[in-house]
Amino acid sequence: MYNHKKFSVINPSKMCQPMGAVQALLGVKDTMPLIHGSQGCSTYMRFQLTRHFREPIEVASTSMNEKTVIYGGEFNLMKALKNITEKQSPQLIAVTSSCLTETIGDDMVGIIEKFREANLGKDLPLIIPVSTPSYAGSHVEGYDKTIKALVEHLAIPSHPTGKINIITGNISPADVGEVKDILKDLQCENIILTDTSENLDAPLSESALDLYDGGTTIGEIGDTANSLGTIAISKHANLAATFLEKKFAVKSESGPLPVGLENTDSFINLLCKLKELEVPETLKRDRGRLIDAMVDAHSYTYHRKVAIFGDPDFVSGMARFISEMGMIPTVLCTGIISKRFTDDIRTISEDKGFNPVVLAGGDLYDLHQQIKELGADILIGNSYGASIAKEENIPLYRTGFPVFDRLGAQRISILGYRGGINVVDRITNTLLDFYYDEAGYEITEEESPEIAEENLYVTEEI
Ligand code: SF4
Repeated sequence: MYNHKKFSVINPSKMCQPMGAVQALLGVKDTMPLIHGSQGCSTYMRFQLTRHFREPIEVASTSMNEKTVIYGGEFNLMKALKNITEKQSPQLIAVTSSCLTETIGDDMVGIIEKFREANLGKDLPLIIPVSTPSYAGSHVEGYDKTIKALVEHLAIPSHPTGKINIITGNISPADVGEVKDILKDLQCENIILTDTSENLDAPLSESALDLYDGGTTIGEIGDTANSLGTIAISKHANLAATFLEKKFAVKSESGPLPVGLENTDSFINLLCKLKELEVPETLKRDRGRLIDAMVDAHSYTYHRKVAIFGDPDFVSGMARFISEMGMIPTVLCTGIISKRFTDDIRTISEDKGFNPVVLAGGDLYDLHQQIKELGADILIGNSYGASIAKEENIPLYRTGFPVFDRLGAQRISILGYRGGINVVDRITNTLLDFYYDEAGYEITEEESPEIAEENLYVTEEI
């Protein structure tokens, strides 16, 4: 474990809590996220989300300013709730706090109650508060707290349904789709918390600025209390699963992100155990195809050094997967300090016999320094890795969030056997593009300058 003391963050590898909260809410049908903070917070979220998903993103703001910071944000929050109710009539408004309103100590719960009392008898949407102070935690905690707030406020016990709740964590719409396909193959009835697969990869529509009409419904969230079990496929998004288990005795399981062979096997086995299901032929065939792809790629991927950065579940899942592909993780960096993450990496390192440098709570400066020291043949992470890759003359395999300098981030799939095949193809083709010539021969460091010298034709000056 790499450990050093420093007094500032240089190019952070994490975002603030409301960003995670908004991403969770974009998967809920007919819902408006409202950030209780300054205009810049919602502008930042919308900017970052729009350039990644290439979709119009609606995030409301209470638009706090110098005056409201001094006198409190009650007036602005009441007015925002009124405006959204009248203009957009959502089923749910989720109010998330920000650095500013947490620092001045606004009582969001009290203000929401006051709004309800002032509008007694009117047809109001459901309103839930989520405390997401940005100076504590990150987007990872913001996502987790928001999913918990949804079930805490909306889950209603009635009759057992036998369904499985799946908490996806912050994954791409394509990966939510992949999880849904696996559940369909298994004929496993489910509730996805939350389903961004339609909203964040939607067909072109003239009513682009309407509320999302896809996603998990409020009724489905209500029904999570009646499910047979909950599986969180992110070890950092299991607060809701624990809540449902404690309050409604819905069995809770939390597994690794199903990236690669072993982690996908664990997810499918968990589902089969909970629901007493048989693995269908379609999934067995996909598993076989993934192994085949890994074997095909082996001569190109074997013993290549890899540096990975991003969210903790992504980094640990990808570290295990690339180890399965015969590659060597040299630097693993996540922006948050998490024992679950370091424990995971310790287990993977022991299983696979590696000793990577682990940056938990690290930033991109730390990542870059460690890549300089230990080397890497490929960097895996989001678009913020592009400058490091360029400086170190290595390729960047873009995945995670945000990816803004390439098209199609919403369609990047890494989960399950089918997503795994994509990963194998894309990593291998990236290596082929970078380290092999057009005839398919590897360009080694030693021979490349000689070849260049032999083939150097200089026009003589006249
Ligand atoms: S860090 Fe604070 S000020 Fe900046 S966008 Fe997040 S909530 Fe807003």
